[in-house]
Amino acid sequence: MSVQAAPTPIICPCCQCENPHDAVFCGNAECHKALGEFRYVTEELMETSAPSSIARSM
Ligand SMILES: [Zn+2]
Repeated sequence: MSVQAAPTPIICPCCQCENPHDAVFCGNAECHKALGEFRYVTEELMETSAPSSIARSM
């Protein structure tokens, strides 16, 4: 594949790491922060990684 218009990379707000423009998660394995609009949902999922029996807030 050839590079076209050089898309703007996403700078992780957490570790300042540069990620591909379409990255969903930070490429830094120790950070792995969710980028973009999924950040809240994903971070919530990571916080509540306990198995089942958690009432859904919807
Ligand atoms: Zn990061």
